[in-house]
This record gives sequence, C-alpha cells and structure tokens, in this order.
Amino acid sequence: MKNKPANKIQDLQYFGEFGGVNPSISDSSTYTFLSAKSMSDTFEGNTEGCYLYSRHTNPSNLYLGEALAAMENTESATVFGSGMGAITSTLLQLCKSGDHVVSSRTVYGGTYAFLKNFANQLNISTSFVDITDLEAIKNSITNDTKVIYCEAVSNPLLEIADILKIAEIAKETGVKLVIDNTFSPLSIVPANLGADIVIHSITKFINGTSDTIAGVVCGSQDFINELRDVNDGASMLLGSTLDSLRAASVLKNLRTLHIRIKKHSENAMYLAGMFEKDGIRTVYPGLKSHPSHNLYNSFIDHEYGYGGILTIDAGKLETANKFMELMQENNVGYLAVSLGFYKTLFSTPGSSTSSEIPEEEQKEMGLNEGLIRFSIGLDNDIKRTYQVIKECMKKVNLI
Ligand code: PLP
Repeated sequence: MKNKPANKIQDLQYFGEFGGVNPSISDSSTYTFLSAKSMSDTFEGNTEGCYLYSRHTNPSNLYLGEALAAMENTESATVFGSGMGAITSTLLQLCKSGDHVVSSRTVYGGTYAFLKNFANQLNISTSFVDITDLEAIKNSITNDTKVIYCEAVSNPLLEIADILKIAEIAKETGVKLVIDNTFSPLSIVPANLGADIVIHSITKFINGTSDTIAGVVCGSQDFINELRDVNDGASMLLGSTLDSLRAASVLKNLRTLHIRIKKHSENAMYLAGMFEKDGIRTVYPGLKSHPSHNLYNSFIDHEYGYGGILTIDAGKLETANKFMELMQENNVGYLAVSLGFYKTLFSTPGSSTSSEIPEEEQKEMGLNEGLIRFSIGLDNDIKRTYQVIKECMKKVNLI
C-alpha cells in the first residue's frame, strides 16, 4: 500500500513532564498568561504553543489528536466529546444554509437522524443513496453539494464504500469526501485512498473498554484550525469537547489497538465462516460471499484483517430476541449496543441503533427486523464460544 501511515503504535513516544512514561495529564480548564498581550494574541490565534481554555485545546487532547492523525495519515486531528460531536461539527463546518449533502443511506442511525431531521431544519438538505452505486452518487451531486458522507464499512449492513472511486468523484466535482471509519480502524486508511476528512467514534474500537464516549476528526491542519476557530469554529462554538482525563485514558488504550483489532478480526473471521457453513445468512467482509469482498481485499491492510463486526439474519425479531437473551444467559456476551469491547456485544439494529430509519426505508435497504449485529470480542477460546452459540441457535431452531 502506498503512503503507509505511521500507524505503528510502537512509534508513539510521549514523556511526562517529570520523565514519566505517560504524558502528564493537563488537569486544568483554563491557562495562565505571563502577559496580558499574549492572552489577547492567543485569542486572535497568533501564538503557537499557548493554551487558552480547554474547550479550545489542551495538551492531553492534543496528544491524543496527534496520535490519531498519525494513525489516519492526516496532517492533524482534533478530539471531541462523542462521535456525534465529531460528525455534527464537521458537517456544520462544511455546510451552510442552502447547501446539500450526498450521504450513504446506510449510516449510523444518529447520523441519519441528524441529516434528515436536524440539518434539514437549518436548510441543509441531504440525498440518501446506495453508496455502492457510483452512478447514483454522481447523479445526486448538485451545484449546492458540499459533502459526500459515508462510512468505510457501513453500520449495520457492512456495505463497503469504494473510497478510491468516490474520492475521484468528489475531486472532479469539488466536493469534500468525509469518511466515518469507526468500524475499520487500522484495516482501512481512508486518507490514503483520497478521503479529505476521517471521523471515528472513539467510543468503539479505538478506546475498546466501553467506559468512554469520545470522537475525533482527522484532516488537514487548515480544516482542524477552522473547527477550532474562536469566531466561527464548530468545535469551539458547539462545545462538544473531550475532557482531558478521558483523553489521557483513551491514549493509553490506543496503544493496544493493533493487538485488539487483530484478535477481533481473527475471532470474527472464524465465527463468520462457521455460521455460514451452518447455513445461517451471514454478512462479513472476510467471506467470499460478501458482494464487496474483492474490493475490500484490494485496499485493506491485511495485517489487521476484516474487522470485528458481522451480522446474521435470524428471520423474525422474536427469534432474534430469544436467541440474544439465550446467548447472554450463557455468557457469550452482552445484549447491548456499541462495539469494540472485549466481550461480544449483540443487538438488533432495526429496533435499536438504526430505529431512526423508518421501517419502509429499512426494508428497502435490506435491514431486516431479525438482523443481529455482533461486535465479536477478544475471546481466547473462540472455538468454545462457537459451540455455546451453536447450542443457543439450536434451542431457537435457527439451525
Ligand atoms: N459512527 C458510527 C459508525 C457509530 O456506530 C456510532 C455510534 O454507534 C457513531 C458514529 C456515534 O458515536 P458516539 O456514540 O461516540 O457519539
């Protein structure tokens, strides 16, 4: 792969101010200035290396941002109090009243709801398209389009965006390509494929311990500066700031991301293969039966595999619910939304994380009521886990 990013976590090196092996946490909301003049210069954005107020930036958030920019091979990055904070700030920075967004129709339900119900009220309109249909993307672009928005691997249908080709369309039409890479950190590096801005819900794999809500926007230094601008920056003014204590704890978890992603991928690949063999309708980018398997293979970093998320179709919602309850009783994992935890998490997106999408649209895009999304955990003995799941499947007549 060209432009291999500095995502080798071994390259991270930050010392604390007393030589600690972890950077010191900057536990302050506000910062002193030695002169009144340097305070006013800082407000005008003229002083490098001065901290003003933690909603703007603080050293702990900057450390985490730098590490994530290195991971995503972008010039810079800024962290947020949630993935939604990162997404909404980016879209509102790029779009003003009268502008238009082309979005994948399968995106996280919160993103869908924001575009459909909230941005719409600000006179920012959205065309939702099948992101695997390049002609549909091209045909939806108007003179007012400012952004093409999609997830590298979509939530929950696991559709794969052909980022290289979509980036070409974006460049030809002068539109920014924004990619949510939450499902595929390290496996996919969207900036290397032409994306302008890369977003993560840090809440998921990057943090990995299901104890934090956080997000990040990775992009050019100019765009990150725009977000932080005290006069019209969406990050500064909408105020979705990450707390510095949390930033410090996420930075510590980031150090094991490469190991975790390999294990999530290995376990998910094993289970997906077994489920498919058992005749269960299984969607996983690592399976040859996935419609975009070859495309995905052409641009992932194989070291990190096909990711930790898979779906199966249990048919009726009632069957899916019984099956999930049984799995939880048998300690396969937790009936919970979110992903990237050490335990397997499972939920039915149609009635949870994608419930903002109206039923008819869900059907049209193939989001069935009994579709179960699994975030596969870090189980050491995944073969044993499979046997337990198989017993649960038998009890609800799935196999
Ligand atoms: N993007 C994706 C793909 C998600 O799955 C989610 C949450 O589920 C988000 C963004 C929103 O992130 P957060 O919950 O951190 O605000």
